[in-house]
Amino acid sequence: MQNQQTLNPDSKSVEVSPRVDDDLEEKCLELGLTLGLDEPVSVQVLEAALRDEVYSHNLLASRRNPVMLKYLLANPPKARATGGEPPQFSNVELVKRAASALLRWGKVGFTVVDQPTLERRRSACLSCPHMIDPPDKLLYKLTATDESQKICDLCGCSVRKKIRLTSESCPGRHPEQEGLSRWGEPWHSETATETA
Ligand code: SF4
Repeated sequence: MQNQQTLNPDSKSVEVSPRVDDDLEEKCLELGLTLGLDEPVSVQVLEAALRDEVYSHNLLASRRNPVMLKYLLANPPKARATGGEPPQFSNVELVKRAASALLRWGKVGFTVVDQPTLERRRSACLSCPHMIDPPDKLLYKLTATDESQKICDLCGCSVRKKIRLTSESCPGRHPEQEGLSRWGEPWHSETATETA
């Protein structure tokens, strides 16, 4: 099915046609159910939750506060302007992965790693050949905080965000240490896309 999302140049929010991709609808519904709703959240809410960690945390924290939840759902923070030509939402898989990461993070209570772990992960990514510049995709335009933000080419995640979350793991096998990822943590085959 063809994606029909475009970026509104005035509101900077994502507009979605009735033919929105099934996978994206599924992630909106999944987030809605996670929030205790019986309907999907809007694409604007999903996009804002992926981009803004404080907003996503507040959403999950308001599951038992209907008034606050209703307010948050009606007022997702706006994406910053990105400039350039109107981007096309050409990679729903990126949104699926980011939404899955968000939901995984919610399940562990939005916890972040301690400073030594963060530094170890950051150091590994900085010297890893899989850390690359982000391609020209809408999700990266919406979530980028600066021009130099890098991604992992094995999973498509923002490295800056990924290394902070306890729920995340490195998908790359350590080149020298059997059974470990490049972060020096246990390597899980279910998150891996690298075979060598
Ligand atoms: S494979 Fe691991 S170490 Fe390399 S960029 Fe991805 S997350 Fe970082």
